[in-house]
Amino acid sequence: MAKKEAPGRKRAFHASNVVVIGLGRFGTSLALELVKNGHQVFGIDTDDRIVQSLASSLTHVVTADTTDEEAVRELGLADMDSAVVAIGADIEASILTTSLLLQLGVKQVWAKANSKSHGRILEQIGAHHVVFPEYEMGRRVAHQVSGESLDYVPIDEDFVMLKGMVPESFDGKNLAELKIRSRFGVTVVAVNQGDGKYTPAFPETVLSKGQTFVVAGQVEPLNKFCQLD
Ligand code: ATP
Repeated sequence: MAKKEAPGRKRAFHASNVVVIGLGRFGTSLALELVKNGHQVFGIDTDDRIVQSLASSLTHVVTADTTDEEAVRELGLADMDSAVVAIGADIEASILTTSLLLQLGVKQVWAKANSKSHGRILEQIGAHHVVFPEYEMGRRVAHQVSGESLDYVPIDEDFVMLKGMVPESFDGKNLAELKIRSRFGVTVVAVNQGDGKYTPAFPETVLSKGQTFVVAGQVEPLNKFCQLD
């Protein structure tokens, strides 16, 4: 088992210790984002080349097979605040790893699923959170491709936040007079003032055509709202 230590990382307020198992594209991107936000990230993968390549970027990285119960126990993962099982293709490895982490008592176990049935098994064995990155990203990109929105972030099955263009009919009016929430059942959350920065939306915020804004709401009213021009 190869062990690599990376230089200490600055801790942010509420920094947590997270173990990311499976450093493929999803696991690596997630691990690097956590480090960027000041968290302590312990990365594990069976592939020594991947482990070497992340040695200076993550807080700590180890080459190990997390389906091996003894190896997992030796790694002392029980004290981690959360664990992310980012193994997708090898469903058996994903399930065994998730189950070992749950047995160890890791407080929050997140697991990536590559299919609905994979996700269902992860839920049945007790994973606290199951994510479907391909499915979720597919939904998100579909809305960009169709031109309905510039970005689309599903919060849950029926609640979404999106980035869209201010319709021409809203030009020069403020949110209070437009009565967006009562007329359309959606909420304008933030508005881009043209300098690339978003600021929170207030009743007196005036909208201009061509400006972008962030709107939140349930899927159906939000879809109707996106068709305004
Ligand atoms: P991605 O789409 O994120 O690239 P993927 O869905 O193709 O990943 P896999 O290829 O199964 O998922 O796994 C991602 C990573 O998990 C790989 O780097 C692989 O080496 C690692 N991995 C697979 N099995 C294990 C295991 N038993 N223990 C530790 N790491 C593992």
